[in-house]
Amino acid sequence: MRHRRHRWGAVLGTAALTVCAAAAPAHADSSVRDGEIRWSDATQFDDAREWAADVWYDSESGLDRVRIGAAPALVDPDLEWRDESRPDVAWVGLWRGGPGPDSVIMNTALLGDGKPFGTRGWRRMTAAHELGHALGIGHLGAGSLMAARMRVDIGGGRPTRTDRAAYHRLWG
Ligand SMILES: [Zn+2]
Repeated sequence: MRHRRHRWGAVLGTAALTVCAAAAPAHADSSVRDGEIRWSDATQFDDAREWAADVWYDSESGLDRVRIGAAPALVDPDLEWRDESRPDVAWVGLWRGGPGPDSVIMNTALLGDGKPFGTRGWRRMTAAHELGHALGIGHLGAGSLMAARMRVDIGGGRPTRTDRAAYHRLWG
């Protein structure tokens, strides 16, 4: 199945807790092709996009099996970063499989300036969580970056030991 969807719901008014309400199967799919994720950029959240790539493609953390970088000219991207304004939904970010390039969608209705999750921390965590799905990682336990429920102050938007273990199970 190429069409794996998941959602992040926002529980507002609590201690900045967000919920990813996906029933996402663990690593059912990924955006990795030939050991790489080559992305194209149509998101306004460049800081978050760069953050996500930096934390998941980081030789100091041992996360160097899957190269993550911009698609060269004339090369079809594996993953497209883009934005949608979706005030009708509860998710802040979404990874979605193709056909065509897979997508990470950032929900500007929640992540935009002045919106409930319109901070650098939430944008980074959202982007890093979604890029984890692009790497084929499903939801993990509480306290991990890939947790279905997490707080922005846990892990600082970086893969935890649990997240890294899941990466290594997939990619060695
Ligand atoms: Zn998720």
